[in-house]
Amino acid sequence: MAPLIGVTSTLKEDVELVGERPLGAFVRTDLDYITGVAQAGGAPVVLPPIAETAEEMARRIDGLLLSGGSDLDPGYYGQEPLSELGQTVPERDAFEMACLTYALEECIPVFGICRGMQVLNVALGGTLYQDLPSQLSDGSIAHLQQTPKWQWTHEVEVEEGSATAKILQAITLRVNSYHHQAIKDLAGGLVAVAHAPDGVIEAVEFHDLSERWLVGVQWHAEAMRDAEVCEYRHLFEAHVAAAEQYALRRTAV
Ligand code: MN
Repeated sequence: MAPLIGVTSTLKEDVELVGERPLGAFVRTDLDYITGVAQAGGAPVVLPPIAETAEEMARRIDGLLLSGGSDLDPGYYGQEPLSELGQTVPERDAFEMACLTYALEECIPVFGICRGMQVLNVALGGTLYQDLPSQLSDGSIAHLQQTPKWQWTHEVEVEEGSATAKILQAITLRVNSYHHQAIKDLAGGLVAVAHAPDGVIEAVEFHDLSERWLVGVQWHAEAMRDAEVCEYRHLFEAHVAAAEQYALRRTAV
């Protein structure tokens, strides 16, 4: 059986009109995450951001994919919002934190993309830059690219010997970049295994993936999986493989 991979989503108010009626609110996630999981051999399932049912949903999945999206409420890492903070979605924040807490307790493999990597870091006790351009970046690298998401822009240097380097089968790669936030203080247990030329953390992994499969990338791997650089697909495959192992262990208990 293919492992069940829960893909997180957001709420979107649709302001378009059908006839004269507003469409209302929708659960939304990018199709690229779903096809990324499916092409890697997993069975994707979209998790709606309803915090009350987070644990019940988390119980049933074999892997968790934290997708990209809006800014996380800085209250989760003990900060007041700066004026440069972007839009936040409280329902989504509450849901992902609850779902992730359960996943971490149960050692469910977690793959975080963009915001997802940041959420993972915060859930484990780390902090974020709320806004790179005003807080850290010297402007030498555009982390919020203006070109389409499937185009790679800046370079990333991956730590040789890291699990992520083994998964990617690459040390130097070019990635897309669609973020104005980044990891500031790294959470205990996580290792920064890739950096942009300006020092921004671009990938993290748990110090021992055999103990706990936690991997996060700051770039949008899901959008690049059909690009010339096919290494991105390996991230989805590694996550699905870890979820398969988790499912076997769970059935054995
Ligand atoms: Mn970047």
